[in-house]
Amino acid sequence: MTSLVRRRLLAVAAALPVMPAFAQSRPLTCGELTAAQTEGPFFKTRTPLRVSLLEAGSKAPRLVVSGQVLSAQCRPVANALLDFWHADEDGEYDNAGFRYRGHQFADGEGRYRLVTIVPAEYPGRARHLHVKVQAPGKRVLTTQLYFRDEPGNRRDGLYRQDLEMRMAAKGAGEGRFDFVVEV
Ligand code: FE
Repeated sequence: MTSLVRRRLLAVAAALPVMPAFAQSRPLTCGELTAAQTEGPFFKTRTPLRVSLLEAGSKAPRLVVSGQVLSAQCRPVANALLDFWHADEDGEYDNAGFRYRGHQFADGEGRYRLVTIVPAEYPGRARHLHVKVQAPGKRVLTTQLYFRDEPGNRRDGLYRQDLEMRMAAKGAGEGRFDFVVEV
């Protein structure tokens, strides 16, 4: 195969629609940018570069979050920056150090994968993750991700169904979420 043909084939493959791993709670709509949410009081800059936030000795249930960063035209955003932070197993944020904080870069197809624990709920909030997502050199999206079938979702005014991770069941250890950002 010539490299030109190969490049064309790769371009066609990249333009194909993205198939979700789980049944979706709503249709995939790359056209809509992911909703922004407040960053809250606990964001910190200069987080470590890492895909696993696991702490030695933690017995909290594991959580793997994966997905893709896409443009409104449903194109993968290569090398997008994702910076995650969340509460620990006691519902506390580490404001002195960087426990449960870390950033990573999506791969060439916009794919990311975060390995962490299920954060505890804290008073007044549904269980959630915080994240900032940014296409290279573009505007930062600050948002939050929510968990399936959490009783706290209904009581939290910030909760949005379109920010809920796709999960096989309540309490599942895997969540999927595709971000749609400005490019
Ligand atoms: Fe929070």
